[in-house]
Amino acid sequence: MEEVIIIKYGELSTKSDNINFFLKTLKNNVDNKLSGINHQIKYDHGRMIVHTNQIEEAIEKIKLVFGIHEICIGYLYADKALENIMANIYELVKDLEFNTFKVVTKRSDKNYPGTSTEISKQIGGYLLSRLQDKKVIMDNPDLVINIEIRQNEVLLYFNGEKGLGGYPVSTLGKGLLMLSGGIDSPVAGYLAIKRGVRIEAIYFDSPPHTSPMALKKVEDLARILSKYNGEVRLHVINFTKIQEEIIKNIPNYYLITIMRRMMYQISAILASNINAHIIINGESIGQVASQTLKSMQVINEAIKMPVIRPVCTYDKLEIIDVAKKIGTYEKSIEPYEDCCTIFVPDHPVIHPDIKLVHEYESLVDFKSLIFEAIKTRKIIKINENDQKSYNDLL
Ligand code: ATP
Ligand code: MG
Repeated sequence: MEEVIIIKYGELSTKSDNINFFLKTLKNNVDNKLSGINHQIKYDHGRMIVHTNQIEEAIEKIKLVFGIHEICIGYLYADKALENIMANIYELVKDLEFNTFKVVTKRSDKNYPGTSTEISKQIGGYLLSRLQDKKVIMDNPDLVINIEIRQNEVLLYFNGEKGLGGYPVSTLGKGLLMLSGGIDSPVAGYLAIKRGVRIEAIYFDSPPHTSPMALKKVEDLARILSKYNGEVRLHVINFTKIQEEIIKNIPNYYLITIMRRMMYQISAILASNINAHIIINGESIGQVASQTLKSMQVINEAIKMPVIRPVCTYDKLEIIDVAKKIGTYEKSIEPYEDCCTIFVPDHPVIHPDIKLVHEYESLVDFKSLIFEAIKTRKIIKINENDQKSYNDLL
């Protein structure tokens, strides 16, 4: 008998037109996730089988891959005789804790005697006669016993652990995440990745007004996201000059509106340069002055590229819940300030006027500053297994 890992797809199965593309991408993503572990993957439209002799380590990694509904341990037997299949199942389940069960048989070897239903019934009867106080129910039983009778072997597996769901990363294209050191943007990134978007990230840095620790914190957050996304390319924009020009020339209560319009413009140009289809950010309706609907409208007016705001309807506590679940929360609450928090005016405008915005923006040659900022950006490639941590700097 060989132990294997069974991956069940869930939501993928509704994508009938391009299911092959989804499955191939999922297979590649699992392959990449298991680099360093000796393994082999086989799949069809029903499920994926991973052969490896490091089952536990592999499962821990596969749990972080999107596009997976359930992860089970499976057992492959060369012996296809029904009485031996029944005896093998009995051995596997006799010490498990369950009250109700059902048997689901799939007969891919069409020459195997009996229909799937007949085989399931026979196996169910065999188990009932040998196990105490167990019941067969079809709806939501404690234990689902899956049997696949294949050409050269029999595969047995039971219900396993839930996967993360969502779509395989990169099946829906690429997005540019505006990643700050806060709580919201890593969560927004995670939720976009979950829907099959592969992300790159952009961070606006303002040295010497912000500490190098703020950048390291963002790198660490990107590293956590790389567990789900694969490598994250972090584009670090030096935003100092633009911010200083804004502070020098723009009325105080419009600082944030115009600063954010500049961030949007830089993000949109970079997004097109890297072939991203959307920008993703952590804005949440009403959270701060720049996130009233009116502010969002005026800020969004700066660009044509669509902006996806996965947490825009979440309460802060809901965002924190996700942040804790995905492992970014502890990092996000570290104290280093980023460029937004340093220059917040006392009374930022909450109903900005677009005409005034255009007027103020004409006071500075922002266009060339924007191009300069993009041209001089630093790109950091971040992978989950990189050893660097901003704690190293402490
Ligand atoms: P977060 O929203 O990540 O918790 P925050 O609340 O301090 O941080 P906001 O001022 O609410 O950030 O900004 C809204 C969004 O704008 C952020 O979620 C993030 O997507 C983006 N953003 C803000 N500052 C930066 C920055 N320095 N670099 C990149 N993106 C940023
Ligand atoms: Mg926020």
